[in-house]
Order: sequence, then structure tokens, then C-alpha cells
Amino acid sequence: MRMSKLPHVGTTIFSVMSKLAADHNAINLSQGFPNFPVDEKLIATYRQKLDENVHQYAPMPGLPRLLTEISVLIESSYQRQLDPNTEILVTAGATQGIFTAITALIETGDEVIILDPSYDCYEPTVSLTGGVPVRIQLNEDFLPDWNRIEDAISERTRMIIINNPHNPSGRIWSKSDMDTLEAILVKHPRVLLLSDEVYEFITFEQKHISAHVYPTIYNQLITVSSFGKTFHITGWKMGYLTAPEALMTEIKKVHQFNVFCVNSVAQAVLADYLPTVDVHALGAFYQEKRDLFASLLAKSRFELLPCDGTYFQTAKYGNISTESDIEFCKTLTTKYGVAAIPTSVFNGDGTDQRVIRFCFAKDNETLHQAAQKLCKI
Ligand code: PMP
Ligand code: GLN
Repeated sequence: MRMSKLPHVGTTIFSVMSKLAADHNAINLSQGFPNFPVDEKLIATYRQKLDENVHQYAPMPGLPRLLTEISVLIESSYQRQLDPNTEILVTAGATQGIFTAITALIETGDEVIILDPSYDCYEPTVSLTGGVPVRIQLNEDFLPDWNRIEDAISERTRMIIINNPHNPSGRIWSKSDMDTLEAILVKHPRVLLLSDEVYEFITFEQKHISAHVYPTIYNQLITVSSFGKTFHITGWKMGYLTAPEALMTEIKKVHQFNVFCVNSVAQAVLADYLPTVDVHALGAFYQEKRDLFASLLAKSRFELLPCDGTYFQTAKYGNISTESDIEFCKTLTTKYGVAAIPTSVFNGDGTDQRVIRFCFAKDNETLHQAAQKLCKI
């Protein structure tokens, strides 16, 4: 019998918890996706595009108009000028972007540093391509321990993957953290940085500092973005990568045989829509939801942890139960009618910090109903 290529991987926690929520008719605050309608203007643009000649293959790297609009967005957000022809790639969500970048750039035996708790697609992708994942735990407060990270760098290290704003914790790195990262990368010019910034526009009091603002590391930098998060369209699976031309050339070699190109209608819609919206309003929109959810849970026995960005609120439940976080999330779903995500699944060694994650990208009524149930526990 052939061995599995991913022997330690089962079904992703997002599928597991969403199914459990559906099976038990629980309010689903587990998998991260909004449950409110998307902007009517976006839908109207989509309807209009369907009548246009946009139904055949798009150019492999992306529709030129969309690539240009993405470069405009990056320049207005981070004051960085990118060449839309050579440094940007439209992908089928951030997930395909991450897969394609890692596949293109990581060779057998290359070490890739992953910071735990980490988003669940990083490690399997590195393993599939023959790389060696090196998983380093973030501090108790989910912020980086630079000594530990620097100690993990060896002559085999080829990439560091970071995720800021961070899923699952909702934390954002300080300027000092980003400066330290820059210094480490400058010291190790062979090491690439894969910066997953899919929640870049969902930030609150403290704005995230993008890796885009560090010119000294441009030659090493690949960034990952997702329209799914920014425009409440997770099901469209639309995102993009940026990389310097030399790296992007390699990434495109893989992309052309992975998907060739991404959904042409969605690209045409986003090219029209992008210049008409203010993505910087997203933070205030979600901040209101974060604050509502937190105020509703104030009288509960959950201990809410800091949430600087993303649409995730983490919580400790030690006052309620001594169960493992996985067991507790099952109980929460099946007995109390609210589904959440256990964070231990994002740790390479399964470390259980007894912290669970709620998604608050929901209409206010759903947040009220969920909080009512959670306050009874
Ligand atoms: N990275 C992180 C940190 C995420 O949370 C997600 C999904 N929510 C992704 C990547 C994948 O994004 P997409 O749905 O655009 O593939
Ligand atoms: N990124 C989303 C989350 O963290 C889920 C994406 C998925 O279902 N693969 O919940």
C-alpha cells in the first residue's frame, strides 16, 4: 500500500466545525466568513459584467486592469510602487497564492519557519513540496519571541512565514517587532519572507505595519492578500500575491500549470469595483462588531483576550470547564448551540492554551443570539 503524502493531516478544523454546527443547528462562529449581504454595488457590477465579453480565459497573471488597480491600492495603502506586469499575480484566494509561492520557491530540504499557532495551510504545503517545516511557538500573548525565532535560523532556512494581523489570535505586531524582523532578514539575505496579510484592512486602534513599507527587504518579500476578507466574498476565492520580478517569474511558472488563470468574471468585476470603494472603512465597520460582541460577553464567564485586528475574538474558558479546547468546542456546539474553533489545532505539537476563537463577522442579531447562549454557560 502506498503511504500518505500527508500522514498527520486530517480534515481541516474549519470543515469539521462548520459541519458539526450544521448537524446540531448551532450558531456558527467557527469558520471565518461573514453572514451578512455583500455590497449591492458589487452585486450590480457582477450582473452587468455577465452580459459582457468576459467569459473566456483571462491572461495568465491576471486581467491587466485588475493588476493595475491592485498596484494603485498598494501604492495608496503603503506608498509602494509595484510593476503590475511583473510583480503582481491574481490568485484563486490567498490559499492558492500561498500554495503556488511555496511550491515555486521551496526545494527539498529547505527549512521554512512557521510561527505557531499558525494558519493551517502553511505546514502541509511546505511538506508536500519537500521542505522542512520548523514550527516556533509565539509567546503566551501570541506575539513573537525574537530570540527563539533567530535561534531557529540555520544555513538551510529558506523562508519565514508570518501572518499579521494574526489568525487565530487577532494580534497585530508592533513597529518594534516589524523592525526586528527587517533586521533579521537583512542579516540573512537568502531567507525569504512570506507575509500573509489577508486581514490587512481589518484593524482597529492600532494599524498593522505591512512588510510592504520595508524597502530593504523587497528582494526577499512575497506578500499575500485576499479579496475574500476585504469585500466579504470568501466564496469567490480571489486574492493576489506580490513578489519581486525574479521570484515572481518562478511563481508564475507554477501558477500557469496550477490554475493557468483565475475566474475571469470575478476579475472583471473586481477591476471595476476596486477603484470605487474605500477599503480603509473596513476597520471601523468590524471594530463596531468587535465591541458589540465583547460588550455582550462582558457578563459571561469567558475571559476575552486582546483583539487588535481580524474578525476573530479569542477567549479563555478556564472558569467554565477543564476540558481540552477541542472537547470544549464540541461541547459548546452540541450542548450550548454555538460553534467556535479550538486554537490548539494550529500548534505543531498540539499545545493546548485553553483558548478558543469566535468569528464576529456576523450580523448583529446573530451576535446577540450567540452571546445570549454563551452568557448562560
Ligand atoms: N491566510 C489566513 C491567515 C487566513 O485566515 C485565510 C482564510 N481565511 C487564508 C490565508 C486563505 O484565504 P482565502 O480564502 O483567500 O484563500
Ligand atoms: N480562514 C478561515 C478561518 O480562519 C477559514 C478558511 C477555510 O475554511 N479554509 O476561519
